[in-house]
Amino acid sequence: MFVAMTNTIPRVRFAPSPTGLLHVGNARTALYNWLFARRADGLFLLRIEDTDLERSEARFETQLIEDLHWLGIDWDGGPGAPDEPDTGDHGPYRQSERLHIYAEHTERLLAEGKAYRCFCTPEELEAERAQAAAEQSSQVYSGRCRNLSQAEIDQNLAAGKHFAVRLRIEDHPLRFHDIVRGPVEFAAETVSDPVLVRSASGASAGVPVYNYVVTIDDALMGITHVIRGDDHISNTPKQVAIYEAFGWPVPEFAHLSTILGPDRERLSKRHGATSISVFRQMGYLPEAMANYLALLGWGAEDGKTETFTLAELVPIFSLERVTPSPAIFDFDKLNWLNRHYIKLADHERIAKLAERQFCLQKPGIFPLWTSNELYTAETIALLASLDPPIHLDIPTPELIGQRKAWFASLLSLFLPYVDYLAQLPVKSAFIFGFDPDAAHADPENAAILSADSARTVLSEFSCRVRTHSGLVTPEIFKTWINEVKAATGIKGKELFHPIRIALTGSHSGPDFDRVIPLIEEGAALGLAIPTVHDRLEQFC
Ligand code: GLU
Repeated sequence: MFVAMTNTIPRVRFAPSPTGLLHVGNARTALYNWLFARRADGLFLLRIEDTDLERSEARFETQLIEDLHWLGIDWDGGPGAPDEPDTGDHGPYRQSERLHIYAEHTERLLAEGKAYRCFCTPEELEAERAQAAAEQSSQVYSGRCRNLSQAEIDQNLAAGKHFAVRLRIEDHPLRFHDIVRGPVEFAAETVSDPVLVRSASGASAGVPVYNYVVTIDDALMGITHVIRGDDHISNTPKQVAIYEAFGWPVPEFAHLSTILGPDRERLSKRHGATSISVFRQMGYLPEAMANYLALLGWGAEDGKTETFTLAELVPIFSLERVTPSPAIFDFDKLNWLNRHYIKLADHERIAKLAERQFCLQKPGIFPLWTSNELYTAETIALLASLDPPIHLDIPTPELIGQRKAWFASLLSLFLPYVDYLAQLPVKSAFIFGFDPDAAHADPENAAILSADSARTVLSEFSCRVRTHSGLVTPEIFKTWINEVKAATGIKGKELFHPIRIALTGSHSGPDFDRVIPLIEEGAALGLAIPTVHDRLEQFC
């Protein structure tokens, strides 16, 4: 009998298994659940499906909670941090803490005759499987233990035989409504008295199976809509049969399409990053990631708008607009959104995130400023006056201010060239120096530098640099270029390319007007950056 849910506040859940990092597909499931709940003024719960003890790890649970928070997703009930109480009224939220609940429900089904003990041995089941394969029919459990008498059951139990618990399937179609796909129907025999609790064998003593525990949890937590990946469609008829056995209302389902890579193969590491924490470490902004995930299978009604904050998505999101066809993960579009949000973001916030990337990739130079909350000027002076003196290398507030301004101009020059923040140190690497031998060896550079005109330009230019003392400004640099041009008659690419290679290691790049101050001021602020003078000396 199909019992529908009526008049209840929508309540949904995200039910990850903590067996790995949060994949973008699961993050999209979480986001769609969250958007659905927020739009409907419903509840969104987080449940940790950690019954696979061998593969579940606490660190994955901690990480996925952090990643969800990072994306801007919160929940109305879920597991507390270690040693902290759960939140919300529907816990416990870790399946490993709910085993007694499953056991009680198994007793109930057995007592009501809705489930039965199956004493078939693995060998017997294997023989059935082999026979079905030989007859090219799909394997259907023979039902051998369906109608054992109480005496037979007692005898088996007394003999200490292991048993699984199977659901007694009634012979009628199993139906459910899928919001994304419409009505779905399966013949009862396709689920063939499914196992609810595995037979005790070795380590897996009487473990309840996924389909069983997920149904009990969803029902007891009052879940009205099950929104999840379409890899669970084939599990759904079994779950519907379990709802029916308990006489529980069957929720609505929404199965979200698979996410494919640009080559239409299932999205995997082969295509690039696939887990939220990796995107995060690469310097994608959470608002870009959340916006992109929302578009993976859903689109706004106007068919055009593609940039949305979470707050903008809540009132317009609907499962009816989610497509059943596979979503293609488009890295270019994600990059485009990330660039969009980098432009909109607060400068201080980007500077902080960017500095982290530089600290990891350029540890000899970064951090440019260390927080000096511990030491007052008095302490610093006192330490310096001791015998032997202790000198703290703490930049003065003035120097910190100057370095911050320098870093801000570095960012304003290079941010337009990056898709994500981890690219910043690479794109701006030449500001921090480069290997002159590698620059000479580069084939494009070598072709440019082999011309006589290049040698003339560089010798004229380095003469001028050598005789100059003090900071080189863009104006001085321009004067030198004009002088070299006048003295040699060489102009255009022949003039500029060799100079640019000597200064930056490459014949193309940003304007000298922006590059020169970064190099010269960076060096003047005590950073390990070769000056214009050093570069010409090393290169020529
Ligand atoms: N724990 C399951 C998974 O991570 C989700 C089950 C469900 O949503 O029903 O795939």
